[in-house]
Amino acid sequence: MSGRTHARVCPERTCVGCRERAAKPDLLRIVAIKDECVPDPRGTLPGRGAYVHPALVCLDQAVRRRAFTRALRAPGALDTKALRHYVEQSESC
Ligand SMILES: [Zn+2]
Repeated sequence: MSGRTHARVCPERTCVGCRERAAKPDLLRIVAIKDECVPDPRGTLPGRGAYVHPALVCLDQAVRRRAFTRALRAPGALDTKALRHYVEQSESC
């Protein structure tokens, strides 16, 4: 036996806002469609994904640092209005 115990229960992702690692289901997947950040709560959209806590603090940090642009390899600035709206809605309920 190899004696390697690598029990990976849940896949982890890093939040692009606060840079903390979290279980994938706790984070919101973001994809870039054209030049817009689109929330992908069901993880079904194709392409590169960035992960962020569904919280405005993390979203704002990510936007300020242009973390989405980097994580999604976007050629230019990404529009995060729709994403922000989505997070606002999910935070308030
Ligand atoms: Zn976060």
